Amino acid sequence: MIRDVRMARHWNCTYYYTGRRCKNGHLSPRFTSNKACVACETIRRTVLTPEAREHLSEKQRQYDQARKDKKREYARLWYRKNKERLKTRRQAHPNYKRRMRSANEQYRKAKRNAYIYTHDIEIQRRIDEIYDRMRELNDAGGDFVVDHIIPIQNPLCCGLHVPWNLSVITRKANSVKGNDFDPDHSFLNGMEGGDSAAANGNLLERKKTRSKPGS
Ligand SMILES: [Zn+2]
Repeated sequence: MIRDVRMARHWNCTYYYTGRRCKNGHLSPRFTSNKACVACETIRRTVLTPEAREHLSEKQRQYDQARKDKKREYARLWYRKNKERLKTRRQAHPNYKRRMRSANEQYRKAKRNAYIYTHDIEIQRRIDEIYDRMRELNDAGGDFVVDHIIPIQNPLCCGLHVPWNLSVITRKANSVKGNDFDPDHSFLNGMEGGDSAAANGNLLERKKTRSKPGS
């Protein structure tokens, strides 16, 4: 994501990301239109009655419980499948475990910062659907990962952990792409509407047109 509001206006982006905290402590993107913190705005717009709040947290609790076993089972399967690969990597790098751990921590942190709709169950459900799709493909023998189309770990920009910034691609394609983001040669130019259309709107557009058969 673009760091400067002037650049964001130039590229017609809905959001930009300064990397600094808002006055309420969020490390969150800001709206280009009024420079408001997205997290603050999201919270401000969601006015919940105590009953609704209770209902939401209960729903969330049930949902977490339901996914817990699935997650554990998936982790077991993953380990069984990747045992050999892990072994060779460990042999190649004595610090493999520590290095992986710190890389994972950095990734999780970036994901947490990019995850701005934590209270929105509908968005979470859509994110989980994407991860479930990846698991289905992997269960069928594929090697897929969930990719952030605009990377969340990049010095130039910060994508969001939102359904319209996620896509399921092969692990190989993902490792080629890495955390690279080139505003001149990125997906922005390959999109309908050209290079200056708003990134988020365009991602939604692209998904819509792609899912239509024959277009
Ligand atoms: Zn804020």
